[in-house]
Parts: sequence; structure tokens; C-alpha cells
Amino acid sequence: NAMLGMLGGGQLGRMFTIAARAMGYRVTVLDPDPESPAGGLADVHLRAAYDDPAALDELAATCAAVTTEFENVPAESLRRLAERTRVSPSADSVSIAQDRIAEKRYIAGAGLAVAPFLAIETAQDLEQDLSGHLPGILKLARLGYDGKGQIRVATVEETQAAFAQLGQKPCVLERRLNLKTEVSVIVARTGPGETTTFPVAENQHEAGILDISIVPARVAPAVAQRARDMALQLAEAMDYRGVLAVEFFVLGGDELVINEIAPRPHNSGHYTLDACINDQFEQQVRTLCGLPPGSTRLLSPVVMVNLLGDIWRDDEPAWDKLLSLPNAKLHLYGKKTARIGRKMGHFNVLGDAVDSTLAQALELKRMLQNP
Ligand code: ATP
Ligand code: MG
Ligand code: MG
Repeated sequence: NAMLGMLGGGQLGRMFTIAARAMGYRVTVLDPDPESPAGGLADVHLRAAYDDPAALDELAATCAAVTTEFENVPAESLRRLAERTRVSPSADSVSIAQDRIAEKRYIAGAGLAVAPFLAIETAQDLEQDLSGHLPGILKLARLGYDGKGQIRVATVEETQAAFAQLGQKPCVLERRLNLKTEVSVIVARTGPGETTTFPVAENQHEAGILDISIVPARVAPAVAQRARDMALQLAEAMDYRGVLAVEFFVLGGDELVINEIAPRPHNSGHYTLDACINDQFEQQVRTLCGLPPGSTRLLSPVVMVNLLGDIWRDDEPAWDKLLSLPNAKLHLYGKKTARIGRKMGHFNVLGDAVDSTLAQALELKRMLQNP
């Protein structure tokens, strides 16, 4: 009945907590927010900042192992914890994923493709020839998510204005690519030879936010296999411990380019909750505890649809239609306030074939939007 520690109390921490408790562990969540989705479910909720020395010492003293649910936890906190308890992923792995410049350099250095990019750290960096990277997207190197901190630019002048608008903080300028589609792979790795990948998800975004994931991805089997191989290759190169999400762009000729990574379970892996023997949070528990990752076998085609605060009106949406279906599963994150663009939950629809399942999921989504 060991205690596991989780840095961060969002929905990913909540789903980790549910998995850990089902597997017989207790959980301590560190999150300053008294209403965090995971805090209320945890055995212990430490309400303190992620770099609070006393809270970190308590985690180290009481937890057999500690992990994180978001990449922006200070790498220094992970280093401090790792002196006294088991920590995965490592501070080094997390710090790569925290910074788009380090991330892209690392991935390219591992021999894997990334979108053509330039590091823009100062205004001077904008004086070089940008033409090979325009039209492009200027992205903050740190702290962006759901498409926040990104500006589309077509000219040098627009790039300069965007850099100023982003506060002249370090950025990458990425060439805008023609995407055939986007896919992602979740890897779980305990150590050498103890690695699994989940089936490839096909991801569709709306306004920069993941909207739906379709599994199996509608790409050629060879493309799916290549994505899994590339994700594995990256995890091996990093000697990664834990759950790693790898986002890919699929280009016109079925070329695969790594977009970004996340050192944790990922929204595009929520389909595993209902459609795989082990879900991504169970893998997070297993890898954290030094156990080999479990089977990732897909039990049926599945479509995951995100539920954003946009469809919460005065009250939460009526779930009766969704709940009356024999093949749909609702997951809500227990957030008290709904806001536009805020992830409040998701649902999974399971079916016999991917196209009919997608059609059913889209119909449900439409009904929830326009009751
Ligand atoms: P996340 O919430 O996944 O962390 P993020 O804010 O880190 O999102 P990215 O993954 O960099 O953002 O980009 C968000 C989306 O914008 C991508 O999934 C893709 O649809 C589009 N996009 C990003 N970069 C490019 C590019 N170079 N060319 C074309 N489309 C792009
Ligand atoms: Mg990101
Ligand atoms: Mg992304």
C-alpha cells in the first residue's frame, strides 16, 4: 500500500490517481489550487507551490515514487526529489520537453525529423534570412499549450511584430507545413527492453485545441508502424522512464515529422481508458513503480471527443442521450467552473468499424452542442 506522489492536480493527475488507487496505491497530490481536479480525490492534497521546499521534502519523505502530470513543473523540483526518492520521468527528460528549442534540437540530434525551424531568442536572430521558414508560425519556446503563445506569420515584418507581441521571449519560428493529417503515439518505458507503444491515434484540432482522436488512425499500416518506431527510437535515445507522448505531422508523401513531445500521458491517449487492456494512466503507475508496462492491445475501434467548457450553458449539458448508448463512456474531470476552451471532460465511443464510430461520435458531439 505504498504512497505515490503526483506533481500537479489537473485532469491528468486525477486520472492517474484513479488508476493508482485501483491498483492498490495511495496518492499524494501537490497542487496549490484547493479545487484542483485531482486534489480532492487524493489521499493527501498538499496545497503548495511546485517549488515549495517543505512540500517537496514531505513528498520525498512519504512517497515511494513521484511523477508529474505537466511539463512545466520546475525541473529543479524533480532534481531535488530525485535525491531522496524514485522520480520518473527524470528532470533531464522533462527539461527537454519544457523548451521547444531544446526539444527540437534533441529530436533532430537523435536523427528524427522535425519541422524546419529557427531558434529566435533575441531580436537580432530576426535579422538572418527567414525566407526558408515563411510562411511560418512563431511559437513561444516555453509554457505554450492548446495553441496559446503561437502567432501565424507570413512576412519578416509580421514576424518582428509577433516577436514583440510575445514579449520578446525565446521562440521558435517554424515553417508552416501542409499537413495531410496528425497522429500521436504514447510510449510507456520502464527501462531497457521494457517498452510498449499504444496504437496510433489520428488527431483533429479545432482552434488549436485537440477536438477528437480516431483510433486506429486512418493511415497506411506502414505509416502507423513507422510512427511507433520513431516514438520508440526517441524514448530509447532519451533513456526515457515513464509515459511519453509523441505528436506527429503526416505530410503529403506520408513523411512523418515530430511536432512535439509531452513527458506524461496525453489528451490523445484518453481513448485507452475504455479501448485498451491497460490505459495510459495504468502505464504511468506501472512505469513509476518499476513494473513492466502492460499490454496495449486495442479491444475495439474508438473515437474520443473532448468536452470543452463552450457547451456548458447555465448548467452542465444533458448527458442522458450519451449515457443511454451501450457503446459510449463519459469522463468528467470535476472542474467547478466552465470556461470557453477549458477541458471539462471527454467521451469515448466504441464501435465495430472506425468510420461508423466516427459518424456516431460526431452526431453525439453535435447534439451536445445544439441540444
Ligand atoms: P498542445 O496543446 O498539443 O501542447 P501546442 O500549443 O503545444 O499544443 P502545437 O502542437 O505546437 O501547439 O501546435 C498546435 C497545432 O497547430 C498542431 O497540432 C497543428 O495542427 C498546428 N501546427 C503547429 N505547427 C504547425 C506547422 N509547423 N505547420 C502546420 N501546422 C502546424
Ligand atoms: Mg504542446
Ligand atoms: Mg501539440
